[in-house]
Amino acid sequence: MKNKDKRSGFTPQESLVSILPSVAAGLIMFFAVIVTNIVYLPEGPFNKTILIMYSIGGSIYLSFYYFIYTSALNKSGFAWINAVLAATALCSMIYFSPERIDQLLYIIVLIAALSSSLISTRGPSYFLIISVTVFYLLIRHNEKMPGYEWIMHFGLTVAALMGVETIQQLKNMARQQINRLEIINDLSKQIVSSLDAKQVFSLLNTAFQNALEADSYYISTVHGDQLHMELLNDDGEYFHNIQLDRKGTLANWIITHQQELFLPDLRQEVQLDDVEMITIGKNKPTHSWMGVPMRGAHVDGVMAISSYRHNAFSRSDMELLSTIAQRAALALDNAYHHARVQEQARLDSLTNVYNHGYFIQILGEQATVCKAQNQPLSLIMLDIDYFKQYNDTFGHLVGDEVLVSLCDIIRRHIKNIDAVGRWGGEEFCISLPNTNGHQAVLVAQRIRETLGLLKIKNNEQLTIPIPTVSMGIAVFPTETNDTTKLIDIADQRLYTAKKRGRDQVESAPALP
Ligand code: GH3
Ligand code: MG
Ligand code: MG
Repeated sequence: MKNKDKRSGFTPQESLVSILPSVAAGLIMFFAVIVTNIVYLPEGPFNKTILIMYSIGGSIYLSFYYFIYTSALNKSGFAWINAVLAATALCSMIYFSPERIDQLLYIIVLIAALSSSLISTRGPSYFLIISVTVFYLLIRHNEKMPGYEWIMHFGLTVAALMGVETIQQLKNMARQQINRLEIINDLSKQIVSSLDAKQVFSLLNTAFQNALEADSYYISTVHGDQLHMELLNDDGEYFHNIQLDRKGTLANWIITHQQELFLPDLRQEVQLDDVEMITIGKNKPTHSWMGVPMRGAHVDGVMAISSYRHNAFSRSDMELLSTIAQRAALALDNAYHHARVQEQARLDSLTNVYNHGYFIQILGEQATVCKAQNQPLSLIMLDIDYFKQYNDTFGHLVGDEVLVSLCDIIRRHIKNIDAVGRWGGEEFCISLPNTNGHQAVLVAQRIRETLGLLKIKNNEQLTIPIPTVSMGIAVFPTETNDTTKLIDIADQRLYTAKKRGRDQVESAPALP
C-alpha cells in the first residue's frame, strides 16, 4: 500500500498517465476557443480579450496540472480546489462569451469534469457540472435561444455526468482487482512459510473474508468416502467437526471431474449427474454457488463459496478462488510433509512405535492431564523372554519380525489415547491413561495371549515358535506421582515377573 493514493485507487504515477489525455484535450479546446475568438467572432458586445486571457490562463494552469497534482499532499483537497477554480473560470467565460461559443465552453466543462473524476471521487466533478449548469441557466434563461440549443446543452450535461460515473466504476473495478492481487500476494507469502495445516486454514479464512463477498464458504478435504469440513462459515457463523458422505454432493462432482463448478442461479434446477442438493451450515436457501478443486500430492478437496443472492459471483471470483485453491493445495502438501517428518522423528524406525525420548514426553503430558482430572494412569513395562537365545536360534531377521508383530498386537489392544514406546532393544512401555491397575492387567494378559497365537514362518515355510513376554505394571498417582519413579516401579515388577519364571504379568498391589 506504500506510496498509494487510496482515494483514487491508483499510484501517483498511474494517475499521471491517466489524466494525460484529458489535459491534452483541455489544451486543444482552449486553443480552439482562442482561434474561434480571433478568426470567427466579429467585434461585438462580448469581451474578446478577456476570453483570450482566460483561455491562455486555463492553458497555463493545465500545463502545470501534472506538477500541481503530483506535488499536492492532500489529493482530495486539491480535487475540490481544482473543481471550484474550474467552475469559477468556466462560469466567467460563459458570462463574457457570446452564446454562439457556449457549446465549445461546455465541452471544456465535460473535459474538466472527466479529468476531475480521474483524480478523485465523484463529488468535485458533480459540483463542477452542476454549478456551471445552474449558472448557465441563470445567465441564458432570458436569451432567445432555439430549443435545440437547450437540448444540446442538456445532452452535454448528461454526457459529462455519465462520463464521470463510468470513470468511477472503472476505477472501482481496478481498485478491486488491485485489492485482490494484493490479497493473493499476501496470502502466497504467508502460506508458503506456514507449516501447520491449522494455520493454513486460518490464513485462508482471512483471505476469503477480505477478497470475496460470499455469505458462506467452506474448505473440505476427502477422507475415503467422507468429506471433512476443515473450515465452514455460514453467514458469519463457524461450524466445526462437520463430516458428511461424499456421495451426491456438489463437492464430490468437482473432485471426480476435477473441474470448477459455477452455479450462478440455484433457483434453476441443477442438471448434474449423481448430484443431490443438500444444505450444510444454516438452513437458509443458497442462490449462487461456486466451487473449485483443491488437489495436491497429499491433499484432495474442494473450496466453495455461496451467496443467498442469485448471480452474486463473477468469472473473476472464480479465477480468484482457483488461484487461492492452488496455493492452498501447495501449502497443505508442505504442512503434510512437515508433519510426516516430525512424526518420523518421534518414531522408532523398526516398529513405528514412539521412540524412548518421545514416549517419556508423552507419558509426562498424559500424567499431567490424568492428575488434573483425578484419574489413574497405568504403565506396563514389557520385555521379551530369552530373546537373545531366540535370535541366536532363529536369526536376527526373524527376531525383528517378532518385534514388529508384537508392536502390532500391542496397538490392537490399546485405545487411541494410549501410547506405546520402545524403551530399548526388546523392551516396551505402554501407558494407559484413565486406566486402573486391574484394567491394565486385563490389557497386559490379552497382549500376552494374542502374542501366543501369532504364527511366524521361516524361509522354508516352517512354523517357528513364538517367544513369550513378561510384564510389570505400576499405577499413577496411587503408587507415585513422579513418572520417573513410575517407570522404575514397573521395571522392578517386570524383573519380579522374570525371576518368578517369565511369561507372566506382575501387577500393582490391589488398592485397599
Ligand atoms: P530375558 O528373558 O532375561 O529378557 O532374556 P533376554 O535374552 O531377552 O535378555 P537380554 O536383555 O540379555 O537380551 C536382549 C536381546 O534382545 C539381545 C538382542 O539380541 C535382542 N535384541 C535387541 N534389539 C533387537 C532388535 O532390534 N532386533 C532383534 N532381532 N533383536 C534384538
Ligand atoms: Mg528380554
Ligand atoms: Mg531386555
